[in-house]
Amino acid sequence: MTSEREYPGTPLTDGQLRRGEVLLVEHEPNARYAWDAGVAIGRSLAELKKGRLVGRECYRCRRIVVPPRMFCEQCFRPTDRWVYLKDSGRVNTYSISYLRWDATRVAKPSIPAVIEIDGASKGMGILHLLGGVKPEDVQMGMRVKAVWKPPRQREGSIRDIRYFRPY
Ligand SMILES: [Zn+2]
Repeated sequence: MTSEREYPGTPLTDGQLRRGEVLLVEHEPNARYAWDAGVAIGRSLAELKKGRLVGRECYRCRRIVVPPRMFCEQCFRPTDRWVYLKDSGRVNTYSISYLRWDATRVAKPSIPAVIEIDGASKGMGILHLLGGVKPEDVQMGMRVKAVWKPPRQREGSIRDIRYFRPY
């Protein structure tokens, strides 16, 4: 016969739950935090606020990587320079999603996609959303362009681009 004492941890009883002897979150937690984006993503977010996409070039492998990073994972050395990229590209892959972020179902799907950005090396892209297109009309390799928020609404976020639309 197996007893609970053979397993790690302490099982909770109904009495402990009734008496509030365990942590229960009944209110929205006031969880404040700071996050350091680092050099590469920090610059990338600042450029988004200005309506620009930026990548990093590695002089050894000649790749231009986006999102930018300060270190080339193929050459095991720092990347060398900033490169401005276009705000257009091609659909590398996509999905038609009928789920929200919290896994509840929605009637109108979103279309998350990886966009290969013009000016970056092949296969380099960013994850974003497609818009202004019916799900059934999306194709791999389709040309798309960023639809930006107006400058005054931008805040240095990937969401300063509303979505990418066919063009
Ligand atoms: Zn490299």
